[in-house]
Amino acid sequence: MPELPEVEVSRMGIKPHAEGQVVSKLDIRQPQLRWRIPDALYDIEGQVIRAVKRRAKYLILETDIGYALVHLGMSGSLRVLPVGSPPGKHDHVDLHLATGVMIRYNDPRRFGAWLWQPNDSDHPALEKLGPEPLTDDFTGDLLFDRSRGKRTAIKQFIMDNAVVVGVGNIYASESLFMSRIHPKRQAGQLTLDEANVLVADIKDVLATAIKQGGTTLKDFTQTDGKPGYFAQELLVYGKQGQPCSVCSTEIESAKIGQRNTFFCSNCQK
Ligand SMILES: [Zn+2]
Repeated sequence: MPELPEVEVSRMGIKPHAEGQVVSKLDIRQPQLRWRIPDALYDIEGQVIRAVKRRAKYLILETDIGYALVHLGMSGSLRVLPVGSPPGKHDHVDLHLATGVMIRYNDPRRFGAWLWQPNDSDHPALEKLGPEPLTDDFTGDLLFDRSRGKRTAIKQFIMDNAVVVGVGNIYASESLFMSRIHPKRQAGQLTLDEANVLVADIKDVLATAIKQGGTTLKDFTQTDGKPGYFAQELLVYGKQGQPCSVCSTEIESAKIGQRNTFFCSNCQK
């Protein structure tokens, strides 16, 4: 599943091709994604894409009259291809640009989304979102304050988009391991020192993943393959039964809030 780093790398992949360019045509072959693609999305035809931004796991294609919101869902990916490239089975949307290339959206499971929001207000999907993890708005003080009195497991807490956006299942396990914090600890029991360490590790693990994914940027203009998904060096995620890289204790797995969680019970308290 594409997580924040994949979405950010997708943004970096399409930005140089799309920013400042006129949308010449929108071609929707399959409108039934997670939500049906609204007819209003055709308003983007003839508009200049002023900026390609990201908020949480949404890509935002800004124009003078509104913006398209693109979510990759469980299995979505974007490529930049010459207009006229024959579509494959799961290529549901093409956004043609006047330069002769198109942004093509592929999504086998169709849990992604293409939405349109006129400039008069913010899309509801963007409301009530917590801070971006890689900005200065996300601090140890903020995590500490928001976690007071919370009995939720710390792993579930940092995965709550109202607390901070974009800390997906992989990155929650990885950052808690780096911080030596047990994923089942109650969020309210975190000390300020631990909150500072955890915030630094969340930033570190996400920034490292984006950097690793940046090496796949050339794949965005190739006709085969799946750009935006990249192999990463993980410390605990998916490694149950393997020795901890720090103390050699077997990595354990458990379900927390229905999600698989991986940790070292010796290193993490
Ligand atoms: Zn260990």
